[in-house]
Amino acid sequence: VKSEKDLSPVILRTRAAMQAQARAWRKTGEVIGFVPTMGALHDGHLSLLHTAKAQASKCVVSVFVNPAQFAPGEDFERYPRDEAKDLELLAAAGCDAVYLPDIEEIYPRGNLTAVSVTDLSDRLEGRCRPHFFYGVSTVVARLFLHVLPDIAVFGEKDYQQLQIIRRMVRDLGFPIEIIGGPTQRESDGLAQSSRNAYLSPEERQAAGAVFSALHRASVRLKLGAAVEDALAEAEAHLKAAGFGPVDYFSAVDPDTFEDISSGPLASGQTARLLVAAWLGRTRLIDNLSASA
Ligand code: AMP
Repeated sequence: VKSEKDLSPVILRTRAAMQAQARAWRKTGEVIGFVPTMGALHDGHLSLLHTAKAQASKCVVSVFVNPAQFAPGEDFERYPRDEAKDLELLAAAGCDAVYLPDIEEIYPRGNLTAVSVTDLSDRLEGRCRPHFFYGVSTVVARLFLHVLPDIAVFGEKDYQQLQIIRRMVRDLGFPIEIIGGPTQRESDGLAQSSRNAYLSPEERQAAGAVFSALHRASVRLKLGAAVEDALAEAEAHLKAAGFGPVDYFSAVDPDTFEDISSGPLASGQTARLLVAAWLGRTRLIDNLSASA
């Protein structure tokens, strides 16, 4: 019988140690699954780990709050961090290794290299946060080269990010299979997110409107409503629930992110509905598929 200690994940804090572990596993024929995160772990993250475990024989979760994807004035400093609790959750979930790099392991002093998935990174979320996806693709490329995974799992919660990573892997030829994991939600539909911790009890009550707005729009589109009408109604639903500015509430092609702005969806056509909206000081994002 293994003791609890034996079941604890290996903790790796340097690129060299991470790569050495990955090489050792590869030598013995292990298939490595990888879930990158920024920590403050919740069931959404753990569901991705379960997906990875179903496809791989060894799983690595990284926890790294990536400064390159925050702009000045965003929440980098106050982003929730709880390493001890994250490690506890990962041990209980059967994670094999946790990669906890310092900033200089990821961004060696004086480094000059970035990865840019142009076009896709400039739409929707990228329009509101111009630095954001450039920071994401740059850190994920680096993490891939440290963890050397066979498969990597990303949440559909961040749908645009998932599609950008798929594109980066295709364009650069990373020998990694990218898997999307479904969004884990609270009972009122609110997508689980580390940032939900910012919500006051009153805001938390109102926050379920993001999912109900998406769901109503998706049903309307199924029934043949024009995209502009379904989106206008969805935005009004958010405002009525007490939301502040809506950064975007859009329907796009699920792969190219070309805007689908008017008329009903064609029969058999699928769109992705994506929203970013402010509730007090907190910015919530979510998305849902819609088809006619
Ligand atoms: P984060 O720690 O927020 O950077 O997220 C790390 C990974 O977990 C990303 O691939 C996210 O898309 C994914 N993720 C975050 N929230 C959820 C959720 N509610 N359901 C499924 N995956 C999620």
